[in-house]
Amino acid sequence: KKLYGVDGWGAPYFSVNCSGNVSVHPSGAETLPHQEIDLMKVVRKASDPKSVGGLGLQLPLIVRFPDVLRNRLHSLQAAFDYSIRSCGYGAHYQGVYPVKCNQDRYVVEDIVEFGVPFRFGLEAGSKPELLLAMSCLTRGSPEAFLVCNGYKDEEYVSLALMARKLDLNTVIVLEQEEELDTVVEASRALGVRPVIGLRAKLRTKHSGHFGSTSGEKGKFGLSTTEILTVAKKLQRMEMLDCLQLLHFHIGSQIPTTSLLADGVGEAAQIYCELARLGANMRVIDIGGGLGIDYDGSHSGGSDMSVGYSLNEYAAAVVQAIQKACDRKYVRHPVICSESGRALVSHHSVLVFEAISSTSSLDSVPLGLDLAYLVEGLGDEARADCRNLMAAAMRGDCDTCLLYVEQLKRRCVDQFKDGALDLEHLAAVDGLCELVAKAMYASEPVRTFHVNLSLFTSIPDFWAIGQLFPIMPIHRLEQRPAVNGVLSDLTCDSDGKIDRFIGGRPSLPLHDFSGHNGGAGGYYLGMFLGGAYQEALGGMHNLFGGPSVVRVSQAGGPHCFAVTLAAPGPSCADVLRAMQHEPALMFEALKRRADECVALGESLAACLARAFDSMPYLVSARGVPVIDTTIAD
Ligand code: PLP
Repeated sequence: KKLYGVDGWGAPYFSVNCSGNVSVHPSGAETLPHQEIDLMKVVRKASDPKSVGGLGLQLPLIVRFPDVLRNRLHSLQAAFDYSIRSCGYGAHYQGVYPVKCNQDRYVVEDIVEFGVPFRFGLEAGSKPELLLAMSCLTRGSPEAFLVCNGYKDEEYVSLALMARKLDLNTVIVLEQEEELDTVVEASRALGVRPVIGLRAKLRTKHSGHFGSTSGEKGKFGLSTTEILTVAKKLQRMEMLDCLQLLHFHIGSQIPTTSLLADGVGEAAQIYCELARLGANMRVIDIGGGLGIDYDGSHSGGSDMSVGYSLNEYAAAVVQAIQKACDRKYVRHPVICSESGRALVSHHSVLVFEAISSTSSLDSVPLGLDLAYLVEGLGDEARADCRNLMAAAMRGDCDTCLLYVEQLKRRCVDQFKDGALDLEHLAAVDGLCELVAKAMYASEPVRTFHVNLSLFTSIPDFWAIGQLFPIMPIHRLEQRPAVNGVLSDLTCDSDGKIDRFIGGRPSLPLHDFSGHNGGAGGYYLGMFLGGAYQEALGGMHNLFGGPSVVRVSQAGGPHCFAVTLAAPGPSCADVLRAMQHEPALMFEALKRRADECVALGESLAACLARAFDSMPYLVSARGVPVIDTTIAD
């Protein structure tokens, strides 16, 4: 537990149980301790076709916990409700979920359903996102906001206006000054009175990676001059009553409440000024940015952590708005936030399997013939060899390493000149590795090859260096024997994870070759990846997305039900995404197979299976049988 810091980043949803497996507390550990779910049991159930009710899904696997989503939403709402009550604030909190964080149908539908009592709504940033938000919100609270952000064309604006006609509480947020003309024209054409919001470009700047969209030079929003121009234009057109919302977003992962209060305070002043100018202001939308603590340090010292709790976040927002409004005698606005990362990050775990592990010392030959080796070398290399052996006898590590490097370099040069044969070059490598092994007290870092594509499932690690907690999900009652880095299936040198939370260059892992006499795999989980990763992930090497299961608490203590099981995209699916036509490809290959009379049928069946299967490796190990005394 301590090795992986799970109490820091995982509480209250993840912990380690007495069987040494990761357990999930979908409703938060403190509230319902008996409702924990053993993650290994979920994996076994989902992936083993032989187990009762087994689903036979292939790994990698995303395990979604809708109850975690419900708990996150309730906790966010409760934090704002508490702050509003304790400050005597004169309006309510009404959040929206930015669907870009995870557009999965069930994630969005769950949030809408769980959010009905709180008038919780959705935020969209593109036409397809708007379509999905519109259709999901038909089942939401009638007062829920549908916030339309992002760059807009006439089609987008008309769609948003149609949503108003469908009685969805839609707000079109102007991202650029030019969008106003489009909104005015389309609303006249459709005979709808729009509700308009403005996205303000704040001066407050968030200095972390995610803050590049904030500050005066930020990519999005209207400058002070543009805000004034829009307000005046609306006034001239007798539409100032349509302007009701002020929005801003200072960036994701806001590190501290002081930065947050600074930004919210600045926005609240703009809000008050718009009210003074006669706009019908009702809502302040503080955007996203509510961060989560990936490294569990609660320090706020980097993009990996935040130095506040949900309650402290809400209090900073409520107090900053209240202070600005009270000074200007402006009615307190409804507070809307677009928290995405904080809402969905915890709800899913990516489970994947290690398939082998290697270290640079695995290839050290036994029974090295030193006399044979030395006799084939040139004079200088022979001297290096002698010096190396002398330093090794003295136990002088630094000198050893110096001669290892020198000897290797010299012999490679000799080989390139054609003066050394392959056997001697291999023998030199063997000697150097043998010496290195003798010099190191502990084994060097091993490479664990994992049945996963980093580019598909953890794209932010590759793209922006984002670290996610990764740990084995079983065998945690045993002390890890080695340190490892992870190497994925793609033919790409970037497809490796060699940095872990806490700034570690490797992860303590178990030696799994001998586990259960070689049977049963070694399973790892990547946590807190429920936001952004699924939509950002690409198809490098044509690896598609993982299989998915949705798991809810059910029945008695420790029981769970799998409410959805979907295999990941097949080889045919990923080929189709690149405009290939699997049916035609199959026919062409089958015709060729038919020509090989003896093999025709079996080849065709084999080909059909290849198109239908997932691109990932099929595990030969099988999921280990685990304690079945706990009901499932
Ligand atoms: N709202 C807007 C306009 C955004 O650009 C973003 C993300 O960048 C969000 C909300 C969600 O932010 P977060 O996931 O940090 O809550």
